[in-house]
Amino acid sequence: MTNRILLSPPHMSGNEQKYINEAFETNWIAPLGPNVNAFESELASYVGSNGAAATSSGTAAIHLALELLGVGSGDTVFCSSLTFVASANPILYAGATPVFIDSEEETWNMSPVALARAMEEAQVKRQLPKAVIVVNLYGQSAKMDELMAICDRYEVPVIEDAAESLGSLCKGKKSGTFGQFGVFSFNGNKIITTSGGGMLVSDDLDALERSRFLATQARDVAKHYQHSVVGYNYRMSNILAGVGRAQLEVLDERVAARRAVYERYEMALAGIDGVEFMPELEGTFSNRWLTAMLLDPEKISVTPNELIDALEAENIEARPVWKPLHLQPLFEECAFYAHAEDDVVSERLFERGVCLPSGSGMTVDEQERVVGVIQRTLGVSKEQSLLSQ
Ligand SMILES: *Cc1c(COP(=O)(O)O)cnc(C)c1O
Repeated sequence: MTNRILLSPPHMSGNEQKYINEAFETNWIAPLGPNVNAFESELASYVGSNGAAATSSGTAAIHLALELLGVGSGDTVFCSSLTFVASANPILYAGATPVFIDSEEETWNMSPVALARAMEEAQVKRQLPKAVIVVNLYGQSAKMDELMAICDRYEVPVIEDAAESLGSLCKGKKSGTFGQFGVFSFNGNKIITTSGGGMLVSDDLDALERSRFLATQARDVAKHYQHSVVGYNYRMSNILAGVGRAQLEVLDERVAARRAVYERYEMALAGIDGVEFMPELEGTFSNRWLTAMLLDPEKISVTPNELIDALEAENIEARPVWKPLHLQPLFEECAFYAHAEDDVVSERLFERGVCLPSGSGMTVDEQERVVGVIQRTLGVSKEQSLLSQ
């Protein structure tokens, strides 16, 4: 059997060991320590935010952001529908109710049209959301200017779920720095990883200090253990922060590698009638964390699931596009605002989408193997796909 090609495996630089060794030599194994402080300030300076707080996961960082914004029971929070469940689970942790917002076609992210409609209705009902969670899918920035303008008009704070878009840009500004809070993830499959971890970024240093307090069991200032509010155990360990520091050093290389992976797929496959790739909106720069493509059922008889199975048969991992959260049994009671009455964009993307192996360490030979299986499965020869460009 040939080597397995994974969707998005970790890609170490080799320098991680240096930081881990330092932590061992100084016996700084426990949570917090110099690597955590350094990772926070290095990441904040990379994205251009005033500060950052390292957490045990991206999910924890979203939860902390909601807490800092005072989200609690009886509140609603608007959230992109086309995303991983981790974007919305913290809304439930906080005891609040999610309202899901559809995608638009140009970025696959939150539709400003649907958001505006949801805000208007919420204002009429005197139930404006406490926060809006905007996701940047697969590295592509949402239309942040338009979304921020709508949220500013209603004075609703934004949490930018940039778990998938570290290193991406929107109008020259780094992804994750548009809202009151931005969230990154260093889970094993992300563009850089600490094996598990996350980061909350903000220009509000007081809020970040509060997040560090909440993330360490909310200990009041006292010699004895005293607590006045609920806290969490959400901080990153000093060892994992060391891994993160080494990974951050190579982030731009990882972005370039993922973009090159995308370009090779596009070169080889975009000529096939009925194949389309996730767009990159003008004025944005995507890290292309995952290359996602669409199969038009009117032009291609192979379904996304059949293509995924065909790749699996060749020991290649591919995945469907996220199943929209408004379709999940967990959220079946939740309200949803479609892009247009007769056009639910997120559902169409889900029905047609496939995420291809996109690891920054994937070799050209491996990628040719993937492309070959796709061409064979879709019934096109290499010559045809090249000719039709
Ligand atoms: C990975 C991811 C998260 C969660 O990050 P973890 O570090 O795994 O908790 C949140 N939102 C999106 C969109 C993600 O892809």
